Amino acid sequence: MVLKNIVYRDCHILYLLFLYLQRLEIKLRTTARSDSGTVKEVVVINFHTYNSKRRLVQILSTVLTIILPFFNILRLDIPTLRFYFFNSVLWVDEFYLLFLVVMLVLFIVIIFSMMYGRIWCGWMCPQTVLSELVHWFEKKTKRWFKVPKTGGTMIRRVAAYMTLSLGVTAISFLISLNLTAYFIDPYVLISDLLHGSLGIVTAGILIGLTALMFVDILVWREKFCTNACPYGMMQMVFTDSKTQVVRYQTERSEECIECKACVRDCMMGIDIRKSAYQTECIHCGVCVDSCETILGRLKTPLPTLISFSWGEKNKQDTWYEKLGFVDAKRWIIVGVVVVYTVVLFSVIHFRQPLSLTASGDRSTLYRKAENGKIMNDYIVKISNRSMDDGVFKLGCGDVKLTHDNCILQLDENPIQLHSREVKTFKLTIATDGTDFHPGPNRLFLEAVNLNNNEIKTQAEIVFFMPEPEVKTVN
Ligand code: SF4
Ligand code: SF4
Repeated sequence: MVLKNIVYRDCHILYLLFLYLQRLEIKLRTTARSDSGTVKEVVVINFHTYNSKRRLVQILSTVLTIILPFFNILRLDIPTLRFYFFNSVLWVDEFYLLFLVVMLVLFIVIIFSMMYGRIWCGWMCPQTVLSELVHWFEKKTKRWFKVPKTGGTMIRRVAAYMTLSLGVTAISFLISLNLTAYFIDPYVLISDLLHGSLGIVTAGILIGLTALMFVDILVWREKFCTNACPYGMMQMVFTDSKTQVVRYQTERSEECIECKACVRDCMMGIDIRKSAYQTECIHCGVCVDSCETILGRLKTPLPTLISFSWGEKNKQDTWYEKLGFVDAKRWIIVGVVVVYTVVLFSVIHFRQPLSLTASGDRSTLYRKAENGKIMNDYIVKISNRSMDDGVFKLGCGDVKLTHDNCILQLDENPIQLHSREVKTFKLTIATDGTDFHPGPNRLFLEAVNLNNNEIKTQAEIVFFMPEPEVKTVN
């Protein structure tokens, strides 16, 4: 393994990272014996090329996509209607936060597209990863069954296609399992699958998604990117004259030897020499590598005619311009989104970790006990939204009320709640009437965490007090 060309020109951490990815060259070499018997050196991984760096990013983003739901980093749990975001739980009555999270994702997508173009499509999008994976597998199956480019026996072709279809079915099933895990607890899903106890709806979803993915990666592949992908279509709206593009240097066009390697190697089947702004281009950089390889052999003064460039001008004087901050508009938008992100994470982190709701049972309005106390019934719901278990004491939150004139009757008080647990129960409040007036009385029901008195919350309830009985004197 050879490590070289790691250049540090500035102490800025992002710039260092950028340089690291731009300059890192790792060559893993091995030897191979050719048919003629000569032993030659083969470069297995060469991080000097965009394609190798892209493969690394694709592997990392694929691993991330697989593990996100397992660690509750991003998951909408449909059975409990809870949204998990960086291990915080947003509940159904906090879905305004979910809206703000979706807005954040949208802002990031817009900024990313505006600055770096369709880099997502070429470097991270699962659709591209799968299309390339299936192309690679297709070539392998043809080689295994010795299927020539043209002609060949039918039996060999059918065997290669059957093997390809089996492989694609397995991949499609794994993808649909991963997709479903974003909406159902992944540990429960896998356990149910292994024990053969999947529900009919979940099983139907898995089968449907597998079928859809099968068609997508076996038949559609890149056609989906150019004809159906909404992100690809939106892309053109976000780009401007300073967005990063893959550009053929028209000013050096006389150096082009018309080898067409850039066209042959483009998975989207386009000729980048026609324009840097073709909607099909996913900014993968493969054509840059192709041209560099060809012109490198010819030892031309400048190694490639195609390059990544900030718009047509490719101005990169300072470290921040090299990161894509080429005008004030980008600084302002990124600044606003950074502030938005900090505020959103603060709101999620510091929001109330305890929820209490109570609704009165108005079918009876009130009851009168034998000892003369007036009673009202309620249905109470308490949820521990924190990451810790807790013991919660329920009481009357009004200072004017004492334990004697606001007696809470319920099965369990204090209430034990595990992290993220919800309990719903019946509560009766009984009073002798002191400090209550006839008709509706507004009170506060209070829940306090006995392990941490600062975690408490209140719910307003209405207690109905009847008119005092008038004693008649005969
Ligand atoms: S033109 Fe170049 S960068 Fe664009 S998709 Fe084709 S190979 Fe990738
Ligand atoms: S790879 Fe380079 S030299 Fe060959 S056709 Fe494309 S731009 Fe011209």
